[in-house]
Amino acid sequence: MNNPEYDFIVIGSGFGGSVAALRLAEKNYKVLVIEKGKRLKPHDFPETNWNLKKWMWIPALRFFGLFKISFFRHITVLSGVGVGGGSLVYANTLAIPKSEFYASGSWSGLADWRDELKPFYSKALQMLSAVENPRLETGDLALKKLGVQIGRADDFFPTTVAVSMQEKFKNIAGYELTACNFCGGCMTGCRYNAKNTLDKNYLYLAEQLGVKILPETEVVDVIPAGNKNGENGYELITVSSTSIFKHKKRFTSKGVVFAGGVLGTVKLLLKLKDSSLPRLSDRVGYDIRTNSESLVGVTTFDKAKSFSDGVAIGSILYTGNKTHLEPVRYGSGSGFWRILMSPMVTGKSAIERIKNILIDLLKNPIKNLKVFTVWNWAKRTQILLFMQTIDSKIKFTLGKLGMKTEMQEGKAPSAFIPHAKELSEKYAEIVNGKPMVLLTETLGGIPTTAHILGGAVIGKDKNSGVIDSNQKVFGYENLWVCDGSAISANPGVNPSLTILAMTERAMDKVPGKAD
Ligand SMILES: Cc1cc2nc3c(=O)[nH]c(=O)nc-3n(C[C@H](O)[C@H](O)[C@H](O)COP(=O)(O)OP(=O)(O)OC[C@H]3O[C@@H](n4cnc5c(N)ncnc54)[C@H](O)[C@@H]3O)c2cc1C
Ligand code: SF4
Repeated sequence: MNNPEYDFIVIGSGFGGSVAALRLAEKNYKVLVIEKGKRLKPHDFPETNWNLKKWMWIPALRFFGLFKISFFRHITVLSGVGVGGGSLVYANTLAIPKSEFYASGSWSGLADWRDELKPFYSKALQMLSAVENPRLETGDLALKKLGVQIGRADDFFPTTVAVSMQEKFKNIAGYELTACNFCGGCMTGCRYNAKNTLDKNYLYLAEQLGVKILPETEVVDVIPAGNKNGENGYELITVSSTSIFKHKKRFTSKGVVFAGGVLGTVKLLLKLKDSSLPRLSDRVGYDIRTNSESLVGVTTFDKAKSFSDGVAIGSILYTGNKTHLEPVRYGSGSGFWRILMSPMVTGKSAIERIKNILIDLLKNPIKNLKVFTVWNWAKRTQILLFMQTIDSKIKFTLGKLGMKTEMQEGKAPSAFIPHAKELSEKYAEIVNGKPMVLLTETLGGIPTTAHILGGAVIGKDKNSGVIDSNQKVFGYENLWVCDGSAISANPGVNPSLTILAMTERAMDKVPGKAD
């Protein structure tokens, strides 16, 4: 390929993709970003999550929203779709992992990660104009009380969030935001232009530098020119992700950055290993982690309480050296999850758990009736997100129906975490409520995660990872992986800031374009 159209094509416009696009453009490269989802504006976001067509991404039903649920044998994954990726749907919370993260997993020893990433964490926080959440609401104050009860009063903190708290606030890119009204709707998309999503900072600046963003387009193949090792560039094949006609288009580029998030990148790499990029590491799909999290909804019987006020996650309580709890909220009226709730029970088998659900229903008929018939579920329910640094790994492989999960080593992520159950029960007492969990957890024993990570991790060589310590793909030239798939240990905290910092570092290592 003599003259590829682009120097770089970035696949996906989430946390990794946005940083890559901007930093490569700053180095004078000609960059195209290809994004499967739509370019959504504040008025495109649903008022509540009952508007499934606007909220969810289910192309088969012609739902082209911002939120996707993917069901697998060992895990249910929540993710974001659209220009800005997961930033459209995320809860704005930016957290720095504790020291264990930098010294464990397949990347340990390959760099002084803690020291090297430090300046890039700061840079990313600055880019997102991150601030401390200034308003603690009902759910946060209850968490604070829980902290006192368990002897961890000093381990309670307001979150650091990428939200504008000022009217007419100009962010680092010069994009004007309004002041947050603490409506709690961040995870269904901010309709008030207060959430500092990636399309308003990294991508906004990138476009000013000439980066082209192509939405509603999915990359389905990446072919090295002349079937070589990529030294001559790549041909990318795309199809429309929103049209019923799947005409193929072709783009050429010298380099490619995979940034489709774990579900996008790992799926594509697995397919490419069997076709156009056979020299990819055998480790593609391995080392898939979550934050070993657990989600519990506590519905209060107290009609005067509202859990919907505030930013989506307003506070954090470190409940142990490896564990923490965050109260997560949806805006008033966004009660979709209620249809999937069941009493929080445990048990070794589905039959035992169904028996325990029935016992709970019989023992607490009034409480259950009140919970199931509560008027405004989102307002009266505090979702608790429990996370831990404990490592458990699964792997993705390709099956006849697409990607599937398999056990890798150790225990599979569990839906039943005794510490999370105990804390939820204590929290429920504080707010006079009842803890409930998702049916997929009680019936299938399958945990739900919004923090899927790994699958194309950093390693010493092709036998231990898919990418090297600069996030370049083993086996080919001019290929990078810059998204959650590159996270090579369990951060134990919300991962977006780490994805930003790691991509900032990887892109910093790319030499500038020699004209
Ligand atoms: C409800 C919810 C709340 C969350 N809250 C938080 C939080 O408060 N803090 C935090 O740190 N994290 C949070 N997360 C997690 C966070 O959103 C993800 O960790 C993060 O978005 C992952 O970034 P990424 O760069 O890996 O990819 P993403 O941000 O997922 O972006 C990948 C993009 O690539 C696109 N894509 C995929 N495949 C292709 C393809 N083949 N061709 C073209 N485009 C493609 C996708 O459509 C997507 O837009 C939350 C997640 C959810 C679902
Ligand atoms: S709380 Fe409401 S206004 Fe504030 S960022 Fe979230 S959605 Fe936007």
